[in-house]
Amino acid sequence: MIKKALTAFLVLPSILSAATQVNSDAALKMLQKQAKHFEQRVVQLTENVYVAVGFHGANTSMIVGTDGVIIVDTLMGPAAATNALKAFREYSDKPVKAIIYTHSHPDHIGGASAFVGAERPPVYAEKGFINSTGIRGDLAPVIKRRGARQFGRVLPPEQTTNRGIAPARTIDKDRGKGHLPPTVFINGDTALSVAGVDLEIYPAPGETDDALFIWLPEERVLFAGDNFYHAFPNLYAIRGTRYRNVLNWSTSVARMATFEPDHLVGGHTLPLSGKDFATKALLEYSQAIGSVYDQTVRAINAGKGPDLIAHEVKLPADIVDKPYLIEFYGSVSHAVRAIYTGLLGWFDGNPAKLNRLHPRDEAEKVAELAGGVKKLERKTRAAMKAGEFQWALELADYLKWLGEAERQLAREIKIAALRALAAQEYNAPNRNYYLSYANELELGQLNDAWF
Ligand SMILES: [Zn+2]
Repeated sequence: MIKKALTAFLVLPSILSAATQVNSDAALKMLQKQAKHFEQRVVQLTENVYVAVGFHGANTSMIVGTDGVIIVDTLMGPAAATNALKAFREYSDKPVKAIIYTHSHPDHIGGASAFVGAERPPVYAEKGFINSTGIRGDLAPVIKRRGARQFGRVLPPEQTTNRGIAPARTIDKDRGKGHLPPTVFINGDTALSVAGVDLEIYPAPGETDDALFIWLPEERVLFAGDNFYHAFPNLYAIRGTRYRNVLNWSTSVARMATFEPDHLVGGHTLPLSGKDFATKALLEYSQAIGSVYDQTVRAINAGKGPDLIAHEVKLPADIVDKPYLIEFYGSVSHAVRAIYTGLLGWFDGNPAKLNRLHPRDEAEKVAELAGGVKKLERKTRAAMKAGEFQWALELADYLKWLGEAERQLAREIKIAALRALAAQEYNAPNRNYYLSYANELELGQLNDAWF
């Protein structure tokens, strides 16, 4: 059981130290409003196109043809996929003639078996399909742990909101159990006819290199996969990912806009309808990604490091308030750091960073500057009292090196500071990560390497 936050530390006012922080009431209201975009339902877009939203984290869609249906994406596992199929069967009982994966992330490819009978339909995917998150298998222990924090998988109900583009609770126990490997690989722009439905498939590298989008010329519906959803894109995932090619992502979304779809189906969240609205959304999504990339590269070439650039880059004023660009999932400042590291690696060009002191030596010298360990303790408590939670967190990172009592104090301050930061965060991965980490600290689940 998680104890209530250490109220002694929670004294207002609080200082907002990141672009995705607002007062705690506003943060909660924003997240509750965003949750309407993934409430469970089937949305009928045209006579023959249906999208099942909220049956798991991602969407699955059904296109009805003359003698069968086509399924786009299959959720995380067969249990959630079976529920979605049952809902689809209210509208059509024709057999599944094809499955198409928009990309290889597990929440899109793990439930395919639920959609097929004895006869296996072809399964389409882009030729580079890798059936993984792009993370090496030997990193599974750390990714699992960080992923659980990002998604808030083990948060108690009173701390649970959502995942930014997905509900907080999903059926995950049969994760990947229904995966069917692709049998047909898309190699370049491809036109097909399946069950009497004309469809076009276009490779569209972005969130993953193996992403594609699907265009129905008759119905003017575009399935964007995870290169579009109703939130700022997750150009970097804090659970840990290799570099996602941001420039490709922007280009792929701009290409989607050239189709001027009447309906735009993202990989998550509700579809968008209306040609002008959907096209504008795609153009502005592409513009947002491109702008973050361009601003970052300009700043890099001016010699700035990621710590500074992350505070400087902002979305252009004319699009910053667009509902599909609010940072519920991705974060601009995280994207900046990812672009920096993705292009140049960890070294920011500042020779002071080439061989930094051991963290313990640095902590001892900072304590000396503060006038001694006790004074550093007082400064850390004072930061909490003043609502400077981020600063308190950073000071606690020094304290923890300075002896056992200081380590205990650092732990307590971190728990309180993380919960206070979480309360004012509307970026769901940040919020979930802060809360999960605080709980792990409180429950004694973090060893010396983590803390
Ligand atoms: Zn997804």
